[in-house]
Amino acid sequence: MSDCLFCRIASGEIPAQVLYEDEEVMAFRDINPQAPVHILVIPKNHYTSLLDLTERDQELLAHLLLTVKKLGSRSDLEGGFRTVINTGDDGGQWVKHLHLHVLGGRPMGWPPG
Ligand code: 5GP
Ligand code: ZN
Repeated sequence: MSDCLFCRIASGEIPAQVLYEDEEVMAFRDINPQAPVHILVIPKNHYTSLLDLTERDQELLAHLLLTVKKLGSRSDLEGGFRTVINTGDDGGQWVKHLHLHVLGGRPMGWPPG
C-alpha cells in the first residue's frame, strides 16, 4: 500500500469525485476548491513533481495537457480556465505527486492571489 495520497486516489483506495479516467491519467475534483471549478489532473503512476519527468515522458506530458484540454470543453469552463503546476516547497506543492490544477468558473484575475 502506498503512503502517497494521490497514488491512493489513483488506485481507488481513497474516494474522489472522478471526472475523467483512462489507463494513464485521472482527473478529479479538488477537495478544497479555490474557484467554482477546481479539478486536479494526475498521472496514475507516481512522479514526485514535474522535476521527476524525463525525455522518455514526453507522451505522458502531452497526455496530461490534452486531458486538461478535454476538460476545458466542459460547459462550466466555457469562459476559460487557468492551469497551474506547483513544484516543490517554494512552488507551494503540498502533495508530492505531480498534479495539474485546472481552475475556472469565474474570472481568475492576474496576478494570482
Ligand atoms: P498543491 O498545493 O500540492 O499544488 O495542491 C494539492 C491540492 O490537493 C490542494 O489544492 C488540496 O486541496 C488537494 N487535496 C489535498 N488532499 C486531497 C484529497 O484527499 N482529495 C482531493 N480530491 N484533493 C485533495
Ligand atoms: Zn503518488
